[in-house]
Amino acid sequence: MDLLKINDPEGELPNSLYTHSIKKKTNYTSVKKDMICQICIIGAGYTGLSAGLSLAELGYEVVILEANRVGFGASGRNGGQVGSGQRWDQNKLEKHFGFDQAKTFWEISEAAKQEVISRIKQHDIECDFCSGIINTTVNKDNVSQLFNEVELLKQKYNYNKLEILNSTDLSKTLDTNFYAAGYLDLGAGHLNPLKFAIGLSIAAVKKRVKIFEKSCVIKVKYGIKNTIFLDNGYQVKCENLLFSCNGYLGNLEPKISKKVMPINNFILATEILEKKLLDSFFKNNYAVADDKFVPNYFRPSPDKRLIFGGGENYTYKFPKAIKKLVRKRMIKVYPQLENTQIDFVWGGTLAVTRSRLPYFAKIKQNAFSVSGYSGHGVALSVLSGKIIAELINGNSKRFDFMNKIPAKPFPGNSSLQWPMLVLGMLWYSLRDRLS
Ligand SMILES: Cc1cc2nc3c(=O)[nH]c(=O)nc-3n(C[C@H](O)[C@H](O)[C@H](O)COP(=O)(O)OP(=O)(O)OC[C@H]3O[C@@H](n4cnc5c(N)ncnc54)[C@H](O)[C@@H]3O)c2cc1C
Repeated sequence: MDLLKINDPEGELPNSLYTHSIKKKTNYTSVKKDMICQICIIGAGYTGLSAGLSLAELGYEVVILEANRVGFGASGRNGGQVGSGQRWDQNKLEKHFGFDQAKTFWEISEAAKQEVISRIKQHDIECDFCSGIINTTVNKDNVSQLFNEVELLKQKYNYNKLEILNSTDLSKTLDTNFYAAGYLDLGAGHLNPLKFAIGLSIAAVKKRVKIFEKSCVIKVKYGIKNTIFLDNGYQVKCENLLFSCNGYLGNLEPKISKKVMPINNFILATEILEKKLLDSFFKNNYAVADDKFVPNYFRPSPDKRLIFGGGENYTYKFPKAIKKLVRKRMIKVYPQLENTQIDFVWGGTLAVTRSRLPYFAKIKQNAFSVSGYSGHGVALSVLSGKIIAELINGNSKRFDFMNKIPAKPFPGNSSLQWPMLVLGMLWYSLRDRLS
């Protein structure tokens, strides 16, 4: 089963609100001859585009190969939330790694948000960026932990962009009684993910990055010069290679796919809502994310819809009833939308690691991979691309730090990995439903 082909028409973007929101799709040519280059990048999502752009700025000659279209993967279909921190909160990071390393994790995640904002400004990317995410908990038992994290960030990390919200504040701000407490993070934000991906690609091309679409890599042979084989018979030879395929990697590099698993996640967009109704959910245009194991995340669109994400599945193929799955979760938060029409539903594939921290790998001296952002990759993938560029350019400091995070393989051989993951995930999502 090939995740690049199984859920979407080949070479096309999904039928999402984002695809409908862009003025023009990208139309880069496919590879039509054998090529030699300094750097070859497989995958044109945020990781690959950011790496390509950063490397070109450093003077390297870069080729990006994309099986479908720029932003075809998670980067063109996600919830658009540019969150703070890593997937673990700082409290957990401190307990596990100690304060000094936890602080480096925090600095990396702050640099990641900054990288997104700088790229938007530097390249004039019109992607509807808005500040503010409200992070919430559904569970009364988690409230003190949530508030402790806010205090910790203020006291030890000097992060003063947070405001605590109790359940009354939340029901006033969001017009729902679903949440026990939360906090507003004004240092985080949200954007139109596909517009951002396309904007990065335009910036990269301006810096002479060569992007090829509909150019699927089927095999890689490592060497002093790596050889990359495409499905149309052409080859690309390169000095350095980056895999930035995330959830769509398949078995192209088994050393990575042992440790990084694909899972599918789903989103809907409602019909255009009356201004008064949408304003009652989003007084200040903030996005919302909760702390369920399979989180709900939602936000307003500039054209006055509710974009609501949540719900996962752990088989290769998307379920037929995506609308039913996500709508049910939306109605729990907003019963007011019982009769609202759903205009768009779509799914996407992301990648998780066992630790839920990203996996930075040096496969060979001149072949690298970054993936497994575990649902927290909008900002982190953009910075990760830059970190790979730094590494290739001789500064390995941030790569070495991330590369040292232990990354365990998923249990079992390749045929067992999926069932084991499914069992684990089902257990946690069952806990969500029971709590
Ligand atoms: C539904 C959904 C909602 C999400 N919401 C959020 C959110 O709100 N906030 C957040 O922080 N994160 C979110 N994420 C995660 C985030 O989108 C990802 O972490 C991030 O986009 C990963 O970027 P990437 O470039 O590494 O991978 P991708 O964007 O998936 O790009 C990989 C690319 O590689 C290409 N490719 C793969 N194999 C080959 C091959 N053999 N040959 C050529 N090309 C190949 C694919 O076609 C694809 O375009 C979400 C993900 C999903 C699916």
